[in-house]
Order: sequence, then structure tokens, then C-alpha cells
Amino acid sequence: MKVAVFSTRPYDRLFLEQANSAFGHELTFFEPHLSFETVSLAAGFPAVCVFVNDRLDARTLMRLNEIGTDIIALRCAGFNNLDLDTASSLGMKVVRVPAYSPHAVAEHTVGLLLALNRKFHRAFNRVREGNFSLDGLLGFDLHGRTVGIIGTGKIGAAVAQILNGFGCELLGYDVTPNPDCEALGMRYVELHELFRQADIITLHCPLTPQTHHLIDAEAIAQMKQGVMLINTSRGGLIDTRAVIRGLKSGRIGYLGLDVYEEEEELFFEDHSGQVIQDDIFARLLTFPNVLITAHQAFFTDTALTRIAQTTLQNLADLEAGRDCPNQISAQSLRKTAAA
Ligand code: NAD
Repeated sequence: MKVAVFSTRPYDRLFLEQANSAFGHELTFFEPHLSFETVSLAAGFPAVCVFVNDRLDARTLMRLNEIGTDIIALRCAGFNNLDLDTASSLGMKVVRVPAYSPHAVAEHTVGLLLALNRKFHRAFNRVREGNFSLDGLLGFDLHGRTVGIIGTGKIGAAVAQILNGFGCELLGYDVTPNPDCEALGMRYVELHELFRQADIITLHCPLTPQTHHLIDAEAIAQMKQGVMLINTSRGGLIDTRAVIRGLKSGRIGYLGLDVYEEEEELFFEDHSGQVIQDDIFARLLTFPNVLITAHQAFFTDTALTRIAQTTLQNLADLEAGRDCPNQISAQSLRKTAAA
């Protein structure tokens, strides 16, 4: 199948081309994001392959449909950047990669947690400058601490498993409790209870209208003084302005982010020679107790290999008219929600 691959970085091309030797799709790589401004690049391609920061809103989808593109292959799990109702009403087929390596994201989450606690990011710089003082680097034992996991699906469960190994108390919040987490001793509680009890809170639910700004001023006010907050899920789960106020007051003692509400303009690009125009993001960078990575949690060779294989298999299934287990539609989501 002829596929226009958007938001291509060198590693996308490498892993997709390697996997494509088993499929033989005709892949054309474009660096820009797919958006209304760039949609004409897709002309002549029955399929587009997109990533987390491509913007598939209603008008972009309508334009895609007009130029004859009716297959959208997301090379990621989340689909908050796509208007699924519009895609389904236009009869477009949407496929995604629901799971490629929950361990990649879970391990990065725990990496952020450990680095923030033991201040690796600060210690690294100090030692390189010949400063061997420990002042300001005091951490806490993770063993025995209470961790609240919001969203206990594949990634949340993998985080729970790792932190169980550290001897943490596990609290969970999810619309559907996960028996694997319960088997680890996780206690499911209401959200306000999790906010009240957790020393560390980590977010692993999808971004939906219900979860948008789940962490807002009201939620932060219920949290323990000095709480650690980690978000490797989607930026929109957090009201960043409220979090900055929480950091300034000391209510939030540590913040680890792999995602950011307005990351589309920043992440996956080298802006090191430019002035950052986003004042909210720039403010975040000034805190010593904030550690940010640029949507990197998925970025392991295992995950990229599986993403490439599954994406190309999804396209092959649709091309051959086979049922694709990774196809999503507005109708299928409504059915799952009602079940
Ligand atoms: P999953 O579908 O296995 O788990 C999501 C869980 O969230 C489910 O258990 C679901 O019941 C729960 N949930 C849904 N709505 C909820 C709500 N309103 N409140 C509480 N829980 C709710 O998904 P996953 O594979 O674990 O991925 C989780 C998220 O991680 C994805 O949605 C994606 O946004 C993010 N992600 C980030 C990266 C990265 O590189 N940073 C990579 C992959 C996925």
C-alpha cells in the first residue's frame, strides 16, 4: 500500500524500513506534522501514518477524505489527537498500536521517580564540576512509601509491579480495576482518597474529555505537602498553571514530566538555538525539583521495533480486506464504554 508517513524522524524511518522488508508497502517519508496546513502532502496516498503530535481534527480529516485518503495508521496507542467521530462518519478506517511495550513507559516513569528523589540530575552536574558536597541532595527511602497510580491498564500495572518490588504501598484509581494489580496488593480507592494518602502520584490513564485537567488546583489542594507528581501519559491530564502554583507553594515537592499540554510546538525538535516562546514551559524549567523529558518514555528499541511491525501489519490487514484487531471507530468505543 502507498503510505505517507508524517512526523518522520530518522529513527522512525530506520525502524519502519527494517520492518517493511516483510511487508513491501510503498512508504514515503515526510518530516512535517500532518495538519490542515500540510494535508495536501497526502494527495495520491490511500493511507497516512501519523504520530502523537499530528493533528487530525475535523477539517483535516474532511480534506484528507476529499483527496482520497481513507486509512489512518496511528503509530502510537493514544488517539486523543484524532477526531474519531468525524473519521468514522466519513467512513475512514483508523488503526493504532494499542500495546508495544508497556515496560518501556513504566521503566521511564520509575526512572523519573528515582532521579527526582535522589536528585541524579543535580548530582551529575555537581560532580562534573568538582563539587562533591551532598547539601541539597537529601532523598527518601522509597520502601514503605505510598504510591497512587491513576489508570491501572497495561502501563499502570507494569509500574505497580516494579514499585511492588521496591516495597511500596500501592493505591489505585481506575474506572475498571485490574485484577493483576489487586493481586499485587493494590488497594483501589476514590480519587480524593488517593490524593490525600499518596506520597507519589503517577498518571497512566488516557486523555479524554473526562480526564482533561484531572490534576487541577482543586486536586492539588487535596494532596500531601511535598507530594511527587509524575506524568508520562498525556500533557492535558495536568493543568500546568495550577501545577506551577503548587510548586511555588511547596505543595508539590517534585514534578516529573514526559509529556506537556503544548508539547506539539516543542517536542521531537532541536530548539536549542532559539528562544523558547512558551512562558509556562520556560517557568517549569526554572524549578530545581522539576525533571522533564521530551516524550521519550516509549523510546526503546523493543518498542520501536514492535510499533513498526504492528503498524505495517495493520496496513496489510486493511489492504487485504481482513479484520484488523487494532482498528478503532466511534461505534466500537461506544460499545466498549457501554459494556
Ligand atoms: P491502557 O488502555 O492499557 O490503560 C489505560 C487505563 O486507564 C485503563 O485501565 C482504563 O480503564 C483507565 N481509564 C480510562 N479512563 C479513566 C478515567 N477517567 N479515570 C481513571 N482511569 C481511566 O493504556 P496504556 O497502554 O496503559 O497507556 C496509558 C496511556 O499512556 C495512554 O493513553 C497514552 O496516553 C500514554 N502513553 C504514553 C507514552 C509515552 O511515551 N509517554 C507511550 C505510550 C502510552
